Amino acid sequence: MSETKYIFVTGGVTSSLGKGIISASLAKLLQSRGYSVTIQKLDPYINVDPGTLNPYEHGECYVTEDGAETDLDLGHYERFINLPTTQANNVTTGRIYQTVINKERRGDYLGKTVQVIPHITDEIKRNIKLLGKKFNYDVVITEIGGTVGDIESLPYIEAVRQLKWELGPQNSIVIHLTLVPYLSASGELKTKPTQHSVKVMLENGIQPDILVLRTEHPLTIDIRKKVALFCNVNIESVIQSIDVSTIYEVPLLMKEEKLDVTVLKKLNLPENEEPKLEKWKKFIDRLKNPKKEITIGLVGKYIELQDSYKSIIESFVHAGSVNQVKVKIESIHSEKITEANVAEVLKNVQGVIVAPGFGQRGIDGKIAAVRYVRENNIPFLGICLGMQCAVVEFARNVLGLTDADSSEMSRTTKNPVIDLMEEQKGVTEKGGTMRLGSYPCDIKKDTKVLEIYNKEHIEERHRHRYEFNNSYMEKFEKAGMKSAGLNSDTGLVEIMEIPEHRWFIGVQFHPEYKSTVVNPHPLFVNFVKEISKD
Ligand code: GLN
Repeated sequence: MSETKYIFVTGGVTSSLGKGIISASLAKLLQSRGYSVTIQKLDPYINVDPGTLNPYEHGECYVTEDGAETDLDLGHYERFINLPTTQANNVTTGRIYQTVINKERRGDYLGKTVQVIPHITDEIKRNIKLLGKKFNYDVVITEIGGTVGDIESLPYIEAVRQLKWELGPQNSIVIHLTLVPYLSASGELKTKPTQHSVKVMLENGIQPDILVLRTEHPLTIDIRKKVALFCNVNIESVIQSIDVSTIYEVPLLMKEEKLDVTVLKKLNLPENEEPKLEKWKKFIDRLKNPKKEITIGLVGKYIELQDSYKSIIESFVHAGSVNQVKVKIESIHSEKITEANVAEVLKNVQGVIVAPGFGQRGIDGKIAAVRYVRENNIPFLGICLGMQCAVVEFARNVLGLTDADSSEMSRTTKNPVIDLMEEQKGVTEKGGTMRLGSYPCDIKKDTKVLEIYNKEHIEERHRHRYEFNNSYMEKFEKAGMKSAGLNSDTGLVEIMEIPEHRWFIGVQFHPEYKSTVVNPHPLFVNFVKEISKD
């Protein structure tokens, strides 16, 4: 196939309807019918990327193989379609403006007034088409962040209108996701918000081709007919998206609703073979029929917002399904843990994960948690800052270096067991300057991680500025905490473990970014397996 087809996914009525999950589910179905598909997210905020955002603002910052700091929806895309995304898969208003302003300064528009239309909309269109051109996908699904009617979404909606016109009806479609609220007092589902939302689309010159309606209760045929009539679509284009217990069921629901078939018809593409979703169904079956339940404590400082640790939580869903175990995550605020109460706080959990993070807040609680699980032989996984806390704790309480610290937390410590990476020393700008993306790691012989991964060379994704200070390595290894994985180009320590402990592993990288339904991450799978033995 030569021409890439474009699907735009917009949202109306309210935010958080799950455009990302609908996009990922559709991609999954098209992929299972033999099409090459990618998904892109356009975000209407002015930050150039979400890397500088506090997780309280937008949830987790997801990192791609090529080192882009992106919206967490890209995590859903990868978890569903099991293919890596890139820099080009997430574009923000900030990035669009930055490119246009840089061009203006270079003199590219010399003599012209630079305006939202056409310059900003052209740059948006260029970014949408780039993916299709560069990688030659059969289908590119572009999710437009925000809700139609928002001031900041307008240039995106206009760009979609223009592209739809330029590409022609069989080469591009718009799927509009809305909410059909249920009024319990009268026991009715209401379609008016959907009608209004489609009207806003029409005011902006776009007739949606397909409507996906989020609902708590099944839509009757009359409701579907009413929406079809008032929103100018045929009845097959009114798709129900009913609430489900797990997001991973959405592709199956969309298949039942024939979303994929309707999309293919509109894009004039052959249906090919029926989607083979056996593996996917087995995954859900095991997820929904656990034989056991375990509780893992997730120690972090952003726990008020579940989305802050999205990829970690999803990785446990994947690992739970593999082991046929229900993994309950107990979120524990690191600021609430002290040496004095740690036993009480952790009394209900069988394993502990210390989350990634930045800055001093909550550090003491994380270190107290590590000490407790290390001394009590409770399974432990430390990710990035979590590994760094494990190193600091070991230095303080085993090596007797009572002032040991990460130089991120104390610039004056005499024992910086975690220190700023050499390459970071001259860095002053905050945006996109960490050690980001995929790097290789060589796993050492006779280690637990080698058993777990069952291979010596791995590649994992990173997002950090600090690292294990190798001048302390001898002391650590003598006392029982060992380096189990290294980046052999730089000597950077990627994995630390305590072989004497039941399961104690700290990783400088983020395994959670690579766990997908089809490829659950071995570290999470093994961690859950170990805890399930109890
Ligand atoms: N703050 C630490 C560093 O920059 C850890 C980062 C993280 O947990 N992602 O090295």
